[in-house]
Amino acid sequence: MAGVVLSVMAHPDDAEFLCAGTLVRLLREHGWQVHIASMTPGDCGSAELSADEISRIRRQEGANSAAIIGGKYHCLEERDLLITYGPETLRKVVHLLREIRPTIVVTHSPSDYMVDHEMTSLITRAACFGAPIPNFFPRNNLRPMDHVPHLYYADPIEGKDIFGKNVAPDFCVDISGVLEVKARMLAAHASQRDWLLKHHGMDKYVETMKQWAAERGKQIGTAAAEGFRQHLGHGYPQTNLLRDLVG
Ligand SMILES: [Zn+2]
Repeated sequence: MAGVVLSVMAHPDDAEFLCAGTLVRLLREHGWQVHIASMTPGDCGSAELSADEISRIRRQEGANSAAIIGGKYHCLEERDLLITYGPETLRKVVHLLREIRPTIVVTHSPSDYMVDHEMTSLITRAACFGAPIPNFFPRNNLRPMDHVPHLYYADPIEGKDIFGKNVAPDFCVDISGVLEVKARMLAAHASQRDWLLKHHGMDKYVETMKQWAAERGKQIGTAAAEGFRQHLGHGYPQTNLLRDLVG
């Protein structure tokens, strides 16, 4: 079954860190369409450039990354450190869902190092629930979703919650065969290498991603993996479609 997968993350390079390998596998092995959305254009991701300048660069980097695999990038034009659960952000994600009509949606862990990630997780969860409801942000040319899509949470950054406790995934996806594609997608975010070095003292942008992938890989006896948990609350699909396809 060829479907559509959409990742909704806070910032333009989050998908490349957290779930791009899995997106590539869905595309290559099952012919799925891949969409990558970020809530913001990463407007705080520079110490030198203005918000407008860095946003312009990062929208292009997001598009370049998605283009590597024939996917499509979407920017929802919120602002860094200000992503807020409310009518405006819900409307944007609901309309994106109705346009793209994804089978599977991937977002951030509900508990993560940064409030932007947690808000995005909450907004995406609620938008998935609301997208099939006709009176929720109706727009003439957009048909409500036929049903709530399968929803998955990627690992939090460094696999830990805000108290430093490990967040164990439900299952891991082996990405060892597509790690180099994931690395090329991440490297498309060239502006961020410099920025992370300055702000977090974090060198080796791509190596950090690979180290984490190797860490998760150990759990399933492979060289690299990405971890996921499924949202299984009432009203959401209960079959584990992602695990069945690539787990
Ligand atoms: Zn982020």
